[in-house]
Amino acid sequence: MPRLELVFRHLTDYIRSIMTALSFLSDIESITPTPILVAPQPVLRAVAREVTADDMALVKSHLPGMFSAMYKAPGIGLAAPQIGLGLRFALVDVADEGERNPMVLINPEIIEESEQLAAREEGCLSLPNQYAEVIRPLSVRMRYRNLEGEVIEMEADDLLATCLQHEIDHLDGILFVDHLSKLKRNMIMRRLAKEQKGR
Ligand SMILES: [Zn+2]
Repeated sequence: MPRLELVFRHLTDYIRSIMTALSFLSDIESITPTPILVAPQPVLRAVAREVTADDMALVKSHLPGMFSAMYKAPGIGLAAPQIGLGLRFALVDVADEGERNPMVLINPEIIEESEQLAAREEGCLSLPNQYAEVIRPLSVRMRYRNLEGEVIEMEADDLLATCLQHEIDHLDGILFVDHLSKLKRNMIMRRLAKEQKGR
């Protein structure tokens, strides 16, 4: 068999398996969103543990509710600790409105980051209605496992780079407000507590 055909077959099987794993997305509106925890929930401050092969069924079982919650919010990322699950995985989708590019990142880690920094306004589904400009590396190189268990390396910049760093922070119990001055952080946390009380 010519080599090209082999590669093509492998790729087709691969795409098919990813599509099957996320086939619920075609009817995502009918899926009940998993409730998202709001700070200061202690699990948001805990370091999540690595996902093992034994965890994969559990991870997959949470994907429909998590994607539903992320798209409904709407948000561009959601990490497992935000639904009370102390496992190192997160969802990301930074596609433009009306389009979708869902990614599931298992055990993601930043392996390289640019010296060049960029400031971008961030928000967080666990700190509803709170926004602030955060300075982070402009681009990063990340390694993660996909739903097939394959190790993937990718480079990202701009919005995706910000989003990846924000989500990986969640797996280490870090919130975007931790990148701000203590004064700004306290102001946001007080405002959030007040708003949550008034709900
Ligand atoms: Zn967040």
